[in-house]
Amino acid sequence: MNNQTIDEFSKKMWDCIVIGAGPAGAIAARQIAKDNKEVLLVDKEIFPRVKVCGCCVNSSAVNALETAGLAHILEENGALPLCTIRLFNKKKNADLALPKSFSLSREKFDMALINAAVACGVKFLSGANAKVLSLDVLPAIQIQKDESAPVLRTKLVIIADGLSGKSLSLLPQFDPLIKGHSRFGASVILDRSPDYIEVGKIYMACGNGGYVGMVVLEDGRLNVAAALSHKFSRQFNGPGAAAVQLLTDNDLPIPKQLAKTHWTGTSLLTRTRLRVAGQRLFVIGDASGYAEPFTGEGIAWALWSGLSVSSLAIEGIKNWTPHLMKKWHYLQNNLVFCRTRCQIIALILRNNTLRSLLVNLCAALPMVVDPVVKIISGSNIIDQPFNRGWK
Ligand SMILES: Cc1cc2nc3c(=O)[nH]c(=O)nc-3n(C[C@H](O)[C@H](O)[C@H](O)COP(=O)(O)OP(=O)(O)OC[C@H]3O[C@@H](n4cnc5c(N)ncnc54)[C@H](O)[C@@H]3O)c2cc1C
Repeated sequence: MNNQTIDEFSKKMWDCIVIGAGPAGAIAARQIAKDNKEVLLVDKEIFPRVKVCGCCVNSSAVNALETAGLAHILEENGALPLCTIRLFNKKKNADLALPKSFSLSREKFDMALINAAVACGVKFLSGANAKVLSLDVLPAIQIQKDESAPVLRTKLVIIADGLSGKSLSLLPQFDPLIKGHSRFGASVILDRSPDYIEVGKIYMACGNGGYVGMVVLEDGRLNVAAALSHKFSRQFNGPGAAAVQLLTDNDLPIPKQLAKTHWTGTSLLTRTRLRVAGQRLFVIGDASGYAEPFTGEGIAWALWSGLSVSSLAIEGIKNWTPHLMKKWHYLQNNLVFCRTRCQIIALILRNNTLRSLLVNLCAALPMVVDPVVKIISGSNIIDQPFNRGWK
């Protein structure tokens, strides 16, 4: 993509500009382009890119892919079926059955979704930082790429810039509320998974300072992702050593290089945005609010919100009315209610006694804790409200 192309892009009136090409942005862009709309998808990173993530695609995410007719990207990219999550707490562990779940690297997953969007006519601009300048009559979006920074006009803008996105920083009414006690995320991918880690199983070690999950990826690498308190991470001089401590406390062997390899971190995880819609603007995916990732529902969240917003966006491009903002807030509120259930699990896991109780119960009476398993595996918690919005 050269500067000439950007200049051409800036002369156009776009139907929709989507900022952020993670799962939320890519699937929303694709759905809107399928309705013959001119859609520009922009991301500041060059793809394929690595992303801090546990790389587990849960059953709700699979349902969303099926709804969009995109479930084939899992098989095509070699996604590995996941059958079990093994929860570790001190000397105890419990195996919980995972329905219809997969592990797949975010390099492959996100690239496949972008390719699917491009195949439907979406124009994709990578390595370009986007910022919303104003929302007057039509949104004005500045795209900074290399030396040029043209301002593009669009009938609608969708913000899908994830947890730490700053594309709305000039519009303070959209500032997120960040929970001070929140944990941060960190991850690393090791070149080879040790033999003692079984394919198809998530290893999840819990402790007071956070939790760390390990899973084998489609190409034999080991993905290690953690949510940690800053205090705990500082105590061990960084996320790598803190993760090693969590594994040691749970009697798990330590993969070589885990502490020495460079970890990538996120900003504080738990946050909400009171406003998720504005004049010709919708906020979706992690950008609209985020809870601790233990239940691994983030990708499902992102996909369903991208799918749901697309019908409102198509309506808004044809004929914008403020009623569409209300509709999106209503759908988001349903979503927040569902997320509260995931947060209950995150809160239980922060408490020593409750955590032990949960793991012991799961080990002894898997049938009794079936609802917990459903929440941990993410099944049926997100797709229901979003499915209603989608229809
Ligand atoms: C430690 C950890 C483990 C996790 N494990 C799992 C898991 O196993 N399973 C699961 O389902 N979820 C998991 N999640 C959550 C999941 O990663 C996210 O919920 C998901 O990626 C959200 O998708 P999204 O499209 O909303 O945002 P993202 O995937 O974050 O995409 C946002 C995109 O916007 C781009 N961007 C940002 N700012 C700009 C800008 N100004 N201009 C242009 N582009 C911009 C970024 O480069 C990025 O590509 C985990 C999260 C963490 C932190």
